[in-house]
Amino acid sequence: MRVTVIGAGVAGLACATELMKRGAAVTVVERAPSLGPASCSWWAGGMLAPWCEAESADEAVVRLGAAAADWWEKQAGGVTRRGTLVLAPPRDAGELKRFARRTTHHKAVDGDAIAGLEPALAGRFRSGLHFAAEAHLDPRAATRALAERLAAGGTVLRFDTEAKDAPAGEVTVDCRGLAARDRLADLRGVRGEMLVLRSREVALTRSVRLLHPRIPVYLVPRGEGLTMVGATMIESGSRSPVSARSLMELLGAAYALHPAFGEAEVVEIGVDARPAFPDNLPRAWREGDTVFVNGLYRHGFLLAPAMARQAADLVFGATPLQGETIGEGERCASC
Ligand SMILES: Cc1cc2nc3c(=O)[nH]c(=O)nc-3n(C[C@H](O)[C@H](O)[C@H](O)COP(=O)(O)OP(=O)(O)OC[C@H]3O[C@@H](n4cnc5c(N)ncnc54)[C@H](O)[C@@H]3O)c2cc1C
Repeated sequence: MRVTVIGAGVAGLACATELMKRGAAVTVVERAPSLGPASCSWWAGGMLAPWCEAESADEAVVRLGAAAADWWEKQAGGVTRRGTLVLAPPRDAGELKRFARRTTHHKAVDGDAIAGLEPALAGRFRSGLHFAAEAHLDPRAATRALAERLAAGGTVLRFDTEAKDAPAGEVTVDCRGLAARDRLADLRGVRGEMLVLRSREVALTRSVRLLHPRIPVYLVPRGEGLTMVGATMIESGSRSPVSARSLMELLGAAYALHPAFGEAEVVEIGVDARPAFPDNLPRAWREGDTVFVNGLYRHGFLLAPAMARQAADLVFGATPLQGETIGEGERCASC
């Protein structure tokens, strides 16, 4: 079975991995010159946090995301399994209660426990929630590892190549992210802005979410003093430079978590638009010889493993197992 995967974002690389595992001869075609800033996946935080996501996401996100950390550990390595710490300043204590009510798999932690988990935050917060089973990864290292393993396993990765017409008689898996709006009328962009800070004083060891009624922000450690701060959620497909307001909000949240972030270097400012369907759930479906995987919204790394399994089932003509799909697993491109 020969399969062409279009797009080397997290969706394309995960699909190629599942297809190669099942014995397909896979070619990945990517229009950018390398893995990098042209794909939305480059800018992700890399949180694998299904139980925290339950606060605002459908139950399918939790169900399908629960096994993501295991998949990533096996296929790419580099998963940090230290859970997520959810905090709120005393004035937003109501937000913490609301978050606790809407989620599961957490334990309430007091100031001492917070200091034990994250010594850098000692004395700064009186209460929080620890989601011990959650994890995070570095998206750039993880996608690089997938690409290297694909190449080592015989998959051809063709960069600088814009896919136009699907090769006749072959199955194509379309993982073009937001660029697939030319075929998927209901795909939209949800803009996300992020920063990377370097601080000598604040070294977090796990993902931390800081709750706020309007601007919930998370911080993900990247090692060597680097911390990713993200991410805005704006109904727009624009990739124009970060706005002053977003920059102030992200920096303000980092500063609220620890004032020493005020002295941090701003190493990077990034912007991209997440591909999303109207219900903010991803889909995999087949039309003729094309399988589409798209709409990963804010769950690219969390849900790519489950979507890749569905895509591989669709390529090989199998019906995805019940309980392993989101929605019906099939839809038409224009509906
Ligand atoms: C700031 C921010 C933070 C985020 N944080 C997280 C997080 O913590 N956890 C999480 O799970 N998700 C997170 N996300 C969401 C995640 O990044 C996306 O869901 C995911 O990247 C979408 O992946 P994709 O492969 O569908 O699209 P993309 O990564 O955009 O990949 C599509 C690829 O297709 C290529 N392409 C397009 N057209 C063609 C063509 N004609 N020929 C060849 N190649 C083509 C593009 O160049 C691109 O490389 C975040 C997103 C943002 C913006």
